[in-house]
Amino acid sequence: MSKIIPVRNPRTGQYDYELKTTDVHSLPAIAAELRSHHADWVALGLEGRLKVLNAWRVEVEKARGAILDAVVADTGRLIESEKEMQRLPASIDRLAIMAREVFAERTLSLRSMKGVEVHGGLSPFPLVGVISPWNFPLSSSLLDTIPALVAGCTAIVKPSEITPRFVEPLLETLRKVPEMYAVLRYVNGDKEIGEALIGQVDAICFTGSAATGQKVAEAAGRAFIPAFLELGGKDPVIVTASADIDKAAAGILSGSVANAGQVCVSLERIYVDRKIAESFVEKLVEKSQQLKLAYPTLKDGTIGPIILERQAHAINQHLNDAVAKGARIRCGGLVEQRDGGWWASPTVVTDVDHDMMLMTDETFGPIMPVMVYDTIEDAVQLANDSTYGLSGAVFSGSSEEGLGIARRMEVGAVSINSSGLGTAAIGEGDFHEKNAFKQSGLAGSRLGYDSITRFMRKKAYLIQN
Ligand code: NAD
Repeated sequence: MSKIIPVRNPRTGQYDYELKTTDVHSLPAIAAELRSHHADWVALGLEGRLKVLNAWRVEVEKARGAILDAVVADTGRLIESEKEMQRLPASIDRLAIMAREVFAERTLSLRSMKGVEVHGGLSPFPLVGVISPWNFPLSSSLLDTIPALVAGCTAIVKPSEITPRFVEPLLETLRKVPEMYAVLRYVNGDKEIGEALIGQVDAICFTGSAATGQKVAEAAGRAFIPAFLELGGKDPVIVTASADIDKAAAGILSGSVANAGQVCVSLERIYVDRKIAESFVEKLVEKSQQLKLAYPTLKDGTIGPIILERQAHAINQHLNDAVAKGARIRCGGLVEQRDGGWWASPTVVTDVDHDMMLMTDETFGPIMPVMVYDTIEDAVQLANDSTYGLSGAVFSGSSEEGLGIARRMEVGAVSINSSGLGTAAIGEGDFHEKNAFKQSGLAGSRLGYDSITRFMRKKAYLIQN
């Protein structure tokens, strides 16, 4: 049975959209249909698949206005919604370059052993499931999906029920390219359909919270399929005494407030050398106060609303807990309600320590807690004192010192003298591979060559001559 989920508008607080969920009992038939197209999809070869993906890209471009409007309504922000739209074509181009290298290399035949000819083969999973979150609804639903399609898999995506408006206009574009619609479907719903999806596919890609990731991993274990998990973070940044203070404040601010802090790789813990701490905080406060909320209209400023109401309460809980334990708010403050939406200004907090939720739990808001350290040893120890290990950053006057510190950080990617360089958000690069450490994720890299090869089982053909 399908059901109706009322969907909240993050700018107005009104429930102005109804999501009709996919009937969970229809999932096996959808899965069977996709599987029936798998052999043809593989037979098309890489160039054939890229041609279909590019035909779809043309349809997405034609429907750009409708999809963008839907993403904006889902999230309440404009700038990041435009960036989400740009990522689809960029990712197809990038993956085409990498996939050509991957397929050329792996299918080479080579001779080895005495009289035995060895050929390498790649066998894509027939059907991959993708479960995605609300903070970048469009791009996170496609981040694992496009590499899986390029690899030769078919895919079912279950996006977040919090931000589902973009699905209908996107589905329209899929229907216009029948070869695409044959291999990619979106299904709508909440955890019920997410759970059911795991039982229908050969591998599951999950992006979301660590708590749900644990449940997905357990369900995948029971289904005996691989789970590729990209979970939450509490990214640290270390600022050394030799850092350019102005550059560090600017870089950290942009790495903390993009998408109103609703980014898995947001910088959420700032460790600064005592010698420069006060001037750094002054600079960070000054720059924070120059930023404006995108309120009352979308184009008024750069910082959009907090998308999920529950998250607004979580941010305030972290701030209240910190203040009760002695922290000082230097600018910004609690998340406030305006016209039904929840809005958070860039907030700098000092006098924090690791007894506060603000320094241990994922806050997911534009909040910048600054903690002072005396030695690099202490800084590294504090940065690594976390259950998360997604990514991080270092600002230093010398890139050698920065790299030395970065090597000791227990995270998958470290930006030096910048922020967020390790994520898909940079758009053009992403040829690098990176893993999520600790409870930030499990298995394979979603970027670089591994973003494709992780969907293909390796085979060997051994011919006795
Ligand atoms: P969430 O875990 O609540 O939900 C994510 C998705 O899982 C949704 O589609 C939801 O419907 C589905 N789901 C919920 N319970 C399920 C279950 N038992 N089985 C299967 N599916 C289930 O996460 P969220 O609140 O939507 O997203 C925010 C989180 O995502 C943050 O922690 C953020 O850091 C993380 N995130 C991580 C990355 C990354 O690359 N590491 C990127 C974006 C967001």
